Amino acid sequence: MTSESHTPTPSREAGLAQLSAFLPRAGNEYARFRNIDYGPSENIQVSALSPWIRHRLINEQEVVAATVWVHGTHGAEKFIQEICWRTYWKGWLEQHPSVWRDYTNALEQHIKEVTNSPALEHRLEAATSGSTGIECFDFWSRELIDTGYLHNHARMWFASIWIFTLRLPWELGADFFLRHLIDGDAASNTLSWRWVAGLQTRGKTYLARPDNITRNTGNRFTPPVGLARQGIPIQAPPPPQLRPLEFEGQNHPDEGAGLLLCEEDLNPEFLRAQGWHFSTVMAVQATAKRSISKISPHVTRFARGALEDALTRADMSEVEKHIPTEDYTAQVMAWVEKHKLSVVVLSYLPVGPTADALASVWPTLKQAGITLRIPVRDWDRRAWPACGRGFFKFWNKAGKDLASETSGSLSL
Ligand SMILES: Cc1cc2nc3c(=O)[nH]c(=O)nc-3n(C[C@H](O)[C@H](O)[C@H](O)COP(=O)(O)OP(=O)(O)OC[C@H]3O[C@@H](n4cnc5c(N)ncnc54)[C@H](O)[C@@H]3O)c2cc1C
Repeated sequence: MTSESHTPTPSREAGLAQLSAFLPRAGNEYARFRNIDYGPSENIQVSALSPWIRHRLINEQEVVAATVWVHGTHGAEKFIQEICWRTYWKGWLEQHPSVWRDYTNALEQHIKEVTNSPALEHRLEAATSGSTGIECFDFWSRELIDTGYLHNHARMWFASIWIFTLRLPWELGADFFLRHLIDGDAASNTLSWRWVAGLQTRGKTYLARPDNITRNTGNRFTPPVGLARQGIPIQAPPPPQLRPLEFEGQNHPDEGAGLLLCEEDLNPEFLRAQGWHFSTVMAVQATAKRSISKISPHVTRFARGALEDALTRADMSEVEKHIPTEDYTAQVMAWVEKHKLSVVVLSYLPVGPTADALASVWPTLKQAGITLRIPVRDWDRRAWPACGRGFFKFWNKAGKDLASETSGSLSL
């Protein structure tokens, strides 16, 4: 994934191919070398699966199942834990939804400040165009824009330098990532930035150290000078009380329902495996809502391709080929009326921009007497309630069991 021509292919087939090519390296090799960022096109020690997993063209459960199948539960524990970090962040945000709302509000505020402050605008422009003079940081800024991807360690160093050396608001950095990362995700991104800033594990920040950068980039960068020597935690009120999760009870498959696909879960196969039958399918694209500023074409293109791939895989004669990117309520209602639907099925929509974008659709459906069914994956239903009090508590309470019960098939 190093240049426009190497951006990932947005299909389930390509995601599965990437997974199978990576699996032999998911054990010791991953555990030993995953922290080293060898540079664009050199990072074969990590999986680069994030664009597919983010859109659930392939999902956590099947990646873990295939990994356990090849390596056993313990042979690739580090890799399985990293997959579970995504589950953990999703479950945590689901139980603290106001953290996403606070982020979007603060972002809006900071964007106004930038408009009113030429000095701040200048500093932001330097950071997002790769012209701060900090060689490694500028390299990652351009790498992100060119490829839509950064290695995990580069994301950590970048966020740390953004917050503690450049002293820019973390929300503007999180937004820069969300606009350019093909895997940009409300939970993983917002909560990782909060973690670096000392807001997530309260009082504990992540400080990028010059020797660590040099060593873990394979000596591509000489130790950067002038980096902050201290990461003073950002002050903010603690997150509110955890919101207990309530999912619909048993899912009851209906004949003749309409399936609505969104870019948060593009796996109609999972619904069919649960016994659902659909007469028609439609997809909506809410990628533009990931930010109030412009989204990178890499990001929009991947999400678009992923939606088209899922529509094709839904394998139904009544496929709505038009994918609305705005005016969702009117477009969904037109589809419902055209097919005389009484039930619409939608995979659970987690907290984030797609849920925000579609929030006004549901009351209109309800008013029209349409039943909305929201199946939740077993993986999420079991994992998320355990995701409130630290990753390792989650791992010991639920993650390990989920992983060990999950060995085998790649067929979900
Ligand atoms: C500041 C910051 C912002 C980030 N923003 C995002 C984001 O928007 N979307 C996103 O998917 N990840 C995000 N991450 C997490 C992580 O950096 C990426 O998931 C990972 O680098 C993707 O590369 P990979 O597929 O090669 O990962 P691998 O190391 O091969 O891991 C396999 C999979 O596990 C999951 N994963 C691995 N590490 C993490 C982690 N720390 N947190 C959550 N999931 C993880 C991803 O789905 C990844 O594809 C962020 C991390 C930081 C520090």
